[in-house]
Amino acid sequence: MKTTLEDTLLSSIRTIKDYPKPGILFRDITTLLGDARAFRRAIDELVYPYAGLKVDKIAGIEARGFILGGAIAHQLSAGFVPIRKKGKLPHETVRVAYSLEYGLDEMEMHKDAVQPGEKVILVDDLIATGGTAEGAVKLLTQMGADIVAACFVIDLPDLGGRRKLENLGVTVRTLIAFEGH
Ligand code: AMP
Repeated sequence: MKTTLEDTLLSSIRTIKDYPKPGILFRDITTLLGDARAFRRAIDELVYPYAGLKVDKIAGIEARGFILGGAIAHQLSAGFVPIRKKGKLPHETVRVAYSLEYGLDEMEMHKDAVQPGEKVILVDDLIATGGTAEGAVKLLTQMGADIVAACFVIDLPDLGGRRKLENLGVTVRTLIAFEGH
């Protein structure tokens, strides 16, 4: 019997209860990344709508967005742009504050990483409240990027992140969803 993409992804993602704090179900994609077939299927599925289109850059959010984004960039023959926690990038940066579950943090991108009008796809492993991705969208928009889509393997729809990005006019693509948080 042929396994569906959803089965492959669901069975390759490990859930860790109460990590990093009580009440959180942590969706660990290291097991997906370590499974050659699941990793390839996830990347192929994220990439296929954009095959043959002009995409200039993939922007990946630290740190799991780097792994997925690197593979997607390679497949689409696009460049890769890291969006990092503050203080990690060596050259001139643009910075934005973004909301976490408790409080605020800041993320940065190199000022010269994206040119105005370039077509960019934003990538991370999971969208929850959408605060992190919203911060990344603000950085990219500030640099004049044309955001083609924001792509995630996992959606936690109960936390409303997808809607937050769609309200900013961003197209969102996710492969699987888990209820709750
Ligand atoms: P948010 O800003 O609330 O959308 O959170 C998204 C970011 O936090 C992503 O970079 C995820 O990797 C991480 N994250 C949030 N919730 C979880 C979770 N339940 N399991 C794994 N990663 C999570």
